[in-house]
Amino acid sequence: MIYFSSPQLQQIENHAEKTYPEECCGLLLGTIEKDHQRVIEVRETDNHWTPDIMESLPNLPSSHHQPLSKKNRFSIDPYVLLQVQKEIRDRSLKIIGIYHSHPDHPPIPSPFDRAIAWSNYSYIIASLTKGKVTEIKSWKLQENQQFEAEKIKIVA
Ligand SMILES: [Zn+2]
Repeated sequence: MIYFSSPQLQQIENHAEKTYPEECCGLLLGTIEKDHQRVIEVRETDNHWTPDIMESLPNLPSSHHQPLSKKNRFSIDPYVLLQVQKEIRDRSLKIIGIYHSHPDHPPIPSPFDRAIAWSNYSYIIASLTKGKVTEIKSWKLQENQQFEAEKIKIVA
């Protein structure tokens, strides 16, 4: 289970609507408790995706009905990830998840999302229809490498 405040979820919605029709992405900074994770900060990042990122993932299914672009792919700059990790070390915070958006697609992880996913992270996907967020879901990678839905709880 992952805890969000409603302003934090609102921030993800605003980011997703601002970058539409491209995917947005960002980091969830927070703490890991015994039975849940608590988001403390939503950190927006740029979508750093470029076509050459696919070359490092040769095992992906190649049949795509849409050309690949930031409209259906996202990537977080590894340098940004490193900087944030450095910055939060002293604040007793961890990167607990990654969010991104699915413009005009359901909030279900794609094979690409699975290929780049790390276990332990929560994967939040905001689905948009015609530029408006309609649904937000959280997923976690299981030991069998499949995603399982994770409950989002809204707390004060
Ligand atoms: Zn995705």
